[in-house]
Amino acid sequence: MTDAVNEPLKPCPWCNKPPQVEPWHGGPGQYQVSCAEASCPVNPQTTGETRVLAIMSWNTRAPFHHENLNVKDMERYLIITAFQRFDGNRTLMSKALGIAYRTLCGKLRALGYEPREKPDVMSP
Ligand SMILES: [Zn+2]
Repeated sequence: MTDAVNEPLKPCPWCNKPPQVEPWHGGPGQYQVSCAEASCPVNPQTTGETRVLAIMSWNTRAPFHHENLNVKDMERYLIITAFQRFDGNRTLMSKALGIAYRTLCGKLRALGYEPREKPDVMSP
């Protein structure tokens, strides 16, 4: 397992209250992060295929807070976006992101993605 499970949750970008994390009915193992604050003007929510991914998605969503994004957040955002765009194809992702395949796999692992059974490039 990964320490990314302890990913800190950022407060709601609109009301600054802590969001809640709960299982989501959208699919087995899926989670939802949402702001349930009654006074929140937006009550935003994100979902993910795992708890960690839902939290990652929440933490990197905030479109009105780009000025607060640091390099690490941007990297996560890029990797998550690339994963979705290339449907998890790591060879295409590594080319698109301009990083080595093995580097990409390490970053994905740190983000909570399951490791592949057999890398389709080279093994150690
Ligand atoms: Zn809120």
